[in-house]
Order: sequence, then C-alpha cells, then structure tokens
Amino acid sequence: MSWTLSLAERVQSLKPSPTLAINTKAKVLKAEGVDIVNLSAGEPDFDTPDHIKEAAIEAIQDGFTKYTPVGGIPELKEAIANRLGHDYGLTYRPEEVMVSTGGKQVLYNIAQAILDPGDEVIIPVPYWVSYPAIVELAGGKARFLKSDPARDFALDIAALSAMITPKTRAMIINSPSNPSGAIYSRDDLKAVAKLALENNFLVITDDIYDQIRFDGQGPEDIASIVPEAQDHVAVVNGVSKTYAMTGWRIGYLAGPEELVRVATKIQSQSTSNPNSIAQKAALAALAGPQDCVRRMREAFLERRDRIMEMLRAIPGISCTEPKGAFYVFPDLSSYYGKGPAGHKIEGSLDMANYLLEEARIAAVPGIAFGDDRFMRFSYATDLKIIKNGMDRLEAALGRLG
Ligand SMILES: *Cc1c(COP(=O)(O)O)cnc(C)c1O
Repeated sequence: MSWTLSLAERVQSLKPSPTLAINTKAKVLKAEGVDIVNLSAGEPDFDTPDHIKEAAIEAIQDGFTKYTPVGGIPELKEAIANRLGHDYGLTYRPEEVMVSTGGKQVLYNIAQAILDPGDEVIIPVPYWVSYPAIVELAGGKARFLKSDPARDFALDIAALSAMITPKTRAMIINSPSNPSGAIYSRDDLKAVAKLALENNFLVITDDIYDQIRFDGQGPEDIASIVPEAQDHVAVVNGVSKTYAMTGWRIGYLAGPEELVRVATKIQSQSTSNPNSIAQKAALAALAGPQDCVRRMREAFLERRDRIMEMLRAIPGISCTEPKGAFYVFPDLSSYYGKGPAGHKIEGSLDMANYLLEEARIAAVPGIAFGDDRFMRFSYATDLKIIKNGMDRLEAALGRLG
C-alpha cells in the first residue's frame, strides 16, 4: 500500500544547504574518476593539528565518553571565556556561555529562543546560506539589507535604519564575511550598536572567521568595539574554521544569561550535550598553543594574493579583495546572456553548472548567498589546485566569447 506522507508547512520552501549540495556533487564526480578542481568547499584543507587530536585520543582512553552537562563541560566554558577575555577584552561568566554542536546549532538555538511568527531578522546580503533558513524554520521573517560591492560590501547604515520596525528582533553580522571576505568598519559597527540599543534588538555576531583576517588586526567584534552594547550582543563562534576542525562539530555562544539559559534548554530537548570527545579536543584547541592558527592564516593570505592576481587577469570579472575568511566572490555577470543558443547562461546557477560540466570546476552560485551576479570560489586548497582552477576558469569563460 502506498500513502502520501504529509509534510509540515514550514519545510515546504526549505532547501538543502546549496554549498553542501555542490560539494557533494563534486565529490561524486571525483569518485567516478572525473578530474574536478573543487573550489566549493567551505572548510580549511589543513589537517586538525596533532596536539588537538591527541587530546581527543586521550579522552577516549580515559573513558570520557558519557553525557556531559548540556551546555558544555565547565573547563571548556572557562577556556571560551578566557579566549573572549584575551582576544576581545570581554568578560563572560559561565552562565553566559553555551557549547553546541557547531556554530550552526548555536544560530539555530538562538533563532528558536527569540523568534515568534512574523518576527523580523535583518540579514545583510550577501549572507551565509543558512541564515535565512534558520530564521524561517523558527517562524521568523528574514529582511535583506543590500550592500554595494563597489563599497567593499560595507553596511548601508541609512538603509538599515529605514528597515527597522517594531517587529525587528535581531540582526545577523558576519565579519569577516562568508562569502565576500568583507570586514565591517568600526564606525559602521558603532552605528549598528547605537541602533540596537535605541530599538532594542539583538545583534548576533557570527565571528567564526575572526582569526582569519589579513588586515593585521586581531579579532574584534561589535561587543569589543562598543562594550556598553554587550548585553545586546550574542557572540557566535567555534573551532571549525580557526583550527581546521569542521568535522568535530563544536561551536559556542556567549551572550546575555537569559538567552544562554533558553538556548541551553532548547539544546537539552533536542541534541543534548555536544560530543564529549570533541569538547576535550576543543579545549586543547582554545587553551593550547596558537602557532597553528598563525601558520594557517599565513597560508590563506598567500593563497588569497595568488587567486586575486589570477582573477584580475581574466577579462570581464570584477572582484573585491577579501579582507578575511578564505573565499573570493567575483562578479561574473558580464558573461550572462552568452553561450550557445539554447544553453545561454542566464544566472549564477547556470554558471555553476557550466563551470562544473565544461571546466570541471566546482564553485558555489551567488544566488545561494542572495546575489545572482556572483560566484564563490574557496581558496582553502593548495596553490597548484588554485592555479589549475583559475586557468580552467579563464579558458571556459573565453569559450563563451
Ligand atoms: C562555517 C561557518 C559557520 C559554522 O560552522 P560550524 O562548523 O557549524 O561551527 C558559521 N557561519 C559561517 C559564516 C560559516 O562559514
């Protein structure tokens, strides 16, 4: 007997994460023996440093394999608070910190904690792919704030101010940004903090790339720049990008005690504690030696310079120089409308398919980040692969005429 499973309304418009989808398609082609240059991955190519792995092995051997407190083990919370104190000059008590299964789960729990149906969250474009879905799954409404690539994707404070309504509950900031690599100016962050205090909304600052910036500055965020706004700020971070630990799934929240309490309650009824072994590994990452972080940052900088040099040499591409993270986000829209009759490239999805099929390059279409003019290429891969990818890109675009 067949029947039709009836699905919830809230998943009708839910799409799977497009970055993960392209990466999967590229991996399948690769497994079939196709020579793919994969520039779609949203993760460092480096191996997790040895001292971190050893802490995990030790945790297993010590039998540290049972449930832990839902919001994380006390020593990891303390290491997180110490890091925020050291890097940002901010003080957090253990009750103001929660450990989760990745930064993504932190964002999910926050949305579940603060949003009622129809509540609005302001999201600058281009945005990380999961923000709108996380807001919508909580019943909230994503309101998109456009930014201008000619102004390095800076925040448009006047437009932001005009978007705030009595239903505005939060704004999400991601600086350095995935996908653009932009870093917001201190003045703009001060203006956001002022608006948040005046209009009482929460600023969710996704600091996951805080250690991967190329402007010579240490980590900073809206709370460190405007300490009097700290009670309006939810800091989201994790070990995935900084320590090449994407698979370990450890992220954290630091913010107002009430928010942390409710987010932890949601966690207690959904996933329980994050993995016990990975918590020990994250502790070694945050409290241990930091030279691995500097080495990876230097490698990313060298790769950024190389990929920018090659992109600039390709006609018809414009690309803002990323100031952090490990992606370039060039505008390829001058090639739209070109291609063989019947197969003209009409947008970034067509471009992604063209590049995958004709040039064997995997990259993520800009539409996934809210702007169809662009494509995201990750340079978290070695220089040879980057060069090969850019050579193929230049040739494939050249064939479009
Ligand atoms: C990778 C990423 C995250 C979180 O990753 P987790 O592995 O879940 O910690 C959050 N925000 C952005 C912008 C990211 O690129």
